[in-house]
Amino acid sequence: MSDKEFIKIKNVSKNFEDVVAVDNINVDIARGEFFSLLGPSGCGKTTLLRILAGFEYPSSGSVFIDNLDVTDITPNLRPTNMVFQNYAIFPHINVKRNIEFGLRKEKLSKDELNERVQNALKMVQLEGYEDRFSNQLSGGQRQRIALARALVKQPKVLLLDEPLGALDKKLREEMKIWIKELQKKLKITTVYVTHDQSEALTMSDRIAVMDKGKISQIGTSTDIYERPKNKFVADFIGISNFLPLKIISSQNSHLKVSFNNKEFIIPDMNYNSDTLTAVLRPEHIIINPEINNNLLTFEGVVEIISYQGSLIRYIINSNNIKFISEFANLPKSKQFKSDEKIQFGFDLNNLVVF
Ligand code: ADP
Ligand code: MG
Repeated sequence: MSDKEFIKIKNVSKNFEDVVAVDNINVDIARGEFFSLLGPSGCGKTTLLRILAGFEYPSSGSVFIDNLDVTDITPNLRPTNMVFQNYAIFPHINVKRNIEFGLRKEKLSKDELNERVQNALKMVQLEGYEDRFSNQLSGGQRQRIALARALVKQPKVLLLDEPLGALDKKLREEMKIWIKELQKKLKITTVYVTHDQSEALTMSDRIAVMDKGKISQIGTSTDIYERPKNKFVADFIGISNFLPLKIISSQNSHLKVSFNNKEFIIPDMNYNSDTLTAVLRPEHIIINPEINNNLLTFEGVVEIISYQGSLIRYIINSNNIKFISEFANLPKSKQFKSDEKIQFGFDLNNLVVF
């Protein structure tokens, strides 16, 4: 198996009595890759991660890591280390002892042990914290110690289950960039579980979007955001306008469709339905476009203005169809008033149709 198949999940399913938590999943994860499992609560992310770690035995299928079938291997003998959801470090022992904990079975000399702990602390930028106790650390520092405790074992694969879930928003923003940078530096193959799309989009080389135990789409952040394969992915990742398109006729490899009293032509991708849905992202709507722009345009009224700081969101009503549009709040950008009549439009190339 190549570096592209450093982790190979083959036909893996897991049932808990009549609940199918993981439903015939096939995924290859490359060596050094930052791979995220993203999906709503209950979609099977943790179960799949626990199968990789060996805490859960699959009902069927197998798992390979670095050319080795690990399906029947116990967690402590796998080249993986997992940081659990809301992981807290032991409160009754200090940071140093917490980090050493994972190495207790490795029969290292005192010097070796010290060196490994120091290295791990250095990786998480908490040198000098070895004598502190949990209650003397901030939330972010505790999470970094939890990571150090996993990294000190020098695993080939790092498994992280919603490691930032317990932190407040600002710290989460900092930590996601920090973890990504650390992962890039260490080049450690990482499987990261989250229900937070912005974490997955920011950190991952590739994302698997999960829905009810299955993978709905796998791809880079750009693939997933700009070319969602289905309504579930489009809805779960970012904000979408869903435009129902009615097919009027088909000619050559094109379809004539109508939406909101306008007819236009889209490529025919052999859709097997007479009603199609187009996804339009809020940032692709242009308000009061120049006449010479080649856009599909409508008239509408600004109904709601929602100020978000770096961006401004407008809800536009056009014949009782609501559109969500967003604009970067740049110094020169024109702002609109509530109830203001506007023209707005979008480029057909920005529609994703299914
Ligand atoms: P996620 O991490 O995406 O929120 P989980 O993997 O925890 O999802 O759970 C997937 C499904 O499997 C859920 O319906 C959950 O209730 C069920 N499940 C998970 N673990 C167990 C278990 N030990 N016993 C019974 N059902 C479980
Ligand atoms: Mg979970």
